[in-house]
Amino acid sequence: MKCMTIKKGVECALMTSEGCSYLGAHCHPVVEKCEGCDRTTEFQGKIYCKSYPEPAAKWERGACNFATHIQATVDKTGKVKINPLKASKRAARGRR
Ligand code: SF4
Repeated sequence: MKCMTIKKGVECALMTSEGCSYLGAHCHPVVEKCEGCDRTTEFQGKIYCKSYPEPAAKWERGACNFATHIQATVDKTGKVKINPLKASKRAARGRR
């Protein structure tokens, strides 16, 4: 169903005939760690994620698994290491 709250007109699986079914009944803006991600988009003067309604929650337990601007790897000790992807690498893959 198409969004009737923040991303008006955008198809969304969370929208129902009774309104947005997500917590708080609307999407939440991106967080600082989302900066540089290709999945961001502007609605009503604020930046939101195209893929997830609450970006802060995607970063609570490490790196966002939808992020296009970082690469998460696990080192020998089991620690998650986050590397920013270089713009040239992303461009080579056909993304900006
Ligand atoms: S995909 Fe992840 S990193 Fe990118 S905007 Fe959405 S929540 Fe932020």
